[in-house]
Amino acid sequence: MAGFTIEYPGTLAEALSLLDPDDPSVRPVGGGTALMLMMKSQLFHPKRLVSLSRLKDPMTGCRDDGDHIRIGAMATLSQLEHSPLIAAEFPVVCAAMATLANVRVRNVATVGGNLAHGDPHLDLPPIWAALGAEAIIDGPSGPRHVKVADLFHGYYETDVADGELITEIRVPRRPGWRATYRKVTTRAIHDWPALGVTLAARFDDDRIADIRIVLSAAVDIPQRLTGAEEVLRGQRPDAALLARAGDAAAAEAPMEHDSRGSVDYKAHLLKVHILRGMNEIGKG
Ligand SMILES: Cc1cc2nc3c(=O)[nH]c(=O)nc-3n(C[C@H](O)[C@H](O)[C@H](O)COP(=O)(O)OP(=O)(O)OC[C@H]3O[C@@H](n4cnc5c(N)ncnc54)[C@H](O)[C@@H]3O)c2cc1C
Repeated sequence: MAGFTIEYPGTLAEALSLLDPDDPSVRPVGGGTALMLMMKSQLFHPKRLVSLSRLKDPMTGCRDDGDHIRIGAMATLSQLEHSPLIAAEFPVVCAAMATLANVRVRNVATVGGNLAHGDPHLDLPPIWAALGAEAIIDGPSGPRHVKVADLFHGYYETDVADGELITEIRVPRRPGWRATYRKVTTRAIHDWPALGVTLAARFDDDRIADIRIVLSAAVDIPQRLTGAEEVLRGQRPDAALLARAGDAAAAEAPMEHDSRGSVDYKAHLLKVHILRGMNEIGKG
């Protein structure tokens, strides 16, 4: 591995000053779980790494901010998993941890690194997108807010520019919404999923008042399935309606064939898991 330097800034301003908007080989490090693998496999050769490990507020912890929950970019996935606030407000996030990597990875991987990595197979980005979360990104031009649903531009490509940092995410409280994330692995359980589907819905008596469906892993970026949502919105779910929603989802999702399954197979999985997911959250 070629030589590089590593810096440990103590403040956000110092961290930003150590990044370089014109040099992609100068990179921030959150938990390092993705970056180190890319370095070991010679895919990435850094000139300078900027560790975010000494940064404090607003980069750490989970806070109740009235109608939002704020999560620091350096909060680890284990901290989310064991946070009573996250468990109370977004149980779907805690539930996803049961099959997300392993405890050693969750103990160091960070919320910010998980988003900035831009890998479409990751479990949390589609969940944040379905929950309506936004990322706060700071950089040379000052802070800006980007919806997680708009953060991803392509395979490993995000809206976060060189020289910028994700500092926090803000997740709106959504009273009355229920959500589930279904991770479908077609090989070993610890392999990347062939498909992930997040369903978040609010019910008005037995009608679906509002709904978001986000597909991941089978597509290059987390993808909202608005056609399927439209089929379901305002309706009473029954087997025929859920089958129509599954058909709409399979028709609109730009899924790709890969070693985890053909497009036809993934379309079948998508229909099955929309049905099962809706049955799960419909029960309350
Ligand atoms: C063995 C193993 C199993 C795994 N299994 C799963 C799994 O089942 N499900 C799953 O979802 N994921 C899985 N992962 C992936 C894991 O979730 C990611 O590696 C992790 O979330 C990345 O976070 P990090 O803090 O370690 O990022 P880092 O490796 O530190 O950084 C990743 C990228 O983000 C950039 N970055 C980091 N922090 C910031 C920031 N605050 N602002 C801007 N850019 C930043 C870095 O420069 C780098 O480009 C697995 C990983 C491993 C090693």
